[in-house]
Amino acid sequence: MEIQTKQLINGELVTGEGEAIAVINPADGSEICAINAASTNQTDAAMAAAHEASQTFGETIPAERAEILNAIADTLQDNAEELAALESLDAGKPWPSALEDETPLTIDTFRFFAGAARTQSAVKAGEYVAGHTSMIRRDPVGPVAAIAPWNYPLMMAAWKLAAPIAAGCTVTLKPAQLTPLSTLRAAELINGIVPKGVINVLHGRGSQIGDQMINDPRAEAITITGSNRTGAEAMKAAAKQIRHVHLELGGKAPVIVFEDADIDAVAETVRYGSFFNAGQDCAQPCRIMVADAIYDKVVAAIAEQVSQIKVGAPRAEGTEMGPIISAAQRDTVAGFVDRARGSCDVVVGGSAIDGPGFFYEPTVLANVDNAAEAATTEIFGPVVTISRFSDEEEALKIANGGPFGLASSVWTNNTGRAMRMSSKLRYGFTWVNTHGVATPEMPWAAMKSSGTGCDMSVYALDAYTAVRHVMIAHG
Ligand code: NAD
Repeated sequence: MEIQTKQLINGELVTGEGEAIAVINPADGSEICAINAASTNQTDAAMAAAHEASQTFGETIPAERAEILNAIADTLQDNAEELAALESLDAGKPWPSALEDETPLTIDTFRFFAGAARTQSAVKAGEYVAGHTSMIRRDPVGPVAAIAPWNYPLMMAAWKLAAPIAAGCTVTLKPAQLTPLSTLRAAELINGIVPKGVINVLHGRGSQIGDQMINDPRAEAITITGSNRTGAEAMKAAAKQIRHVHLELGGKAPVIVFEDADIDAVAETVRYGSFFNAGQDCAQPCRIMVADAIYDKVVAAIAEQVSQIKVGAPRAEGTEMGPIISAAQRDTVAGFVDRARGSCDVVVGGSAIDGPGFFYEPTVLANVDNAAEAATTEIFGPVVTISRFSDEEEALKIANGGPFGLASSVWTNNTGRAMRMSSKLRYGFTWVNTHGVATPEMPWAAMKSSGTGCDMSVYALDAYTAVRHVMIAHG
């Protein structure tokens, strides 16, 4: 497969002038290629290009931006198989997931924002003070510094590009240094559709290129999907210059299973949802909390499902779960399990898998204390914990007690309980009797230390638009 290694700066595909960073295949540990990062000067040139382009791009009408977004969706669609292949190679994703789950959602993100660009509304213009007419404007904030993580490289790039473009902002985007391949190829495909400088794509480390991007005074907004540590760096950078900042960070999703829940549905959702993408998912249903009355049955049902998961190379027939992204991340996952094993029951898995590549067994830890590290800290790997609770009040107290506030789910056949729980859970999203189903129309929203604002839906436009008031005195 041919690999596109150039970056997009001011409408030109250019070779990086910074250090060469090896791109590793997580399924076998081999080097796919080495890609030169951007230099300081190249990063500066990208930020300058985005700044200059924003002067004219901010004045485009929504219909023009919708046309651009639809054209991007079309070109990604025409090249979907190649993009999915790059994603599968670079991030170790099972081929069917890369092609059939992630790529269509990625493309649909651009189509949704093509429509959303044309739907913005506000308070009606009128006379709120006698003799004065007021109107609200929602204008693009300006150039955006956008940073994406490695777990869903192209989908996260789509979330970071489509909404700002719909809002009339220019973007400089940096994918994670571990997984640049699909985003660099997409940059090549997009170049020519957008006016020069409107989208720039850089490659490099967060501590260097990312840091330079978010501290550049020409970036009027910062958007990051990543870890809480990186989110805090973005907040610091934004604080220095007083900038808009939109963060989608870590999670630790509780799965709250009441005694009237459908146990088979819970176990199937854990099998397919918790181990999708090898558990490297901010909304991963990972903290399973079960009512005492059905605890043993739920543990048995989950153990039965999870022990059937087929782990293997991304392209191998029947693979449900691929490798972890890197040796370092696999060590992190193993560390959590090793520290937990003395104080809980390892009912499935619990070990790294020998051989080349960074594989780890799908792992279920039961009888985990609700306050234990494994139950409260984001592991970001193929590990779930199962713990107990006695009633609604205790379930809420446990679930709302941690620092995170991204995804959650409630499992019950009692509608009143489902409504009570979802109104009180302090999470950006709560699913009832399902977990992980996403659609561009609905927000991917964060509370507490999981972030600020949301991706997807019309609400994503808030991060990239400034509300302005214009008042005309007419006597
Ligand atoms: P990370 O924070 O290490 O890296 C994310 C991106 O930030 C990378 O591109 C990295 O190069 C960059 N970065 C790192 N330090 C930086 C700095 N000082 N300045 C600027 N940029 C910097 O995160 P990761 O390990 O790639 O991703 C995993 C994390 O992302 C998990 O915590 C996960 O929960 C979170 N995540 C959240 C969501 C969400 O929607 N809330 C979605 C996916 C992943």
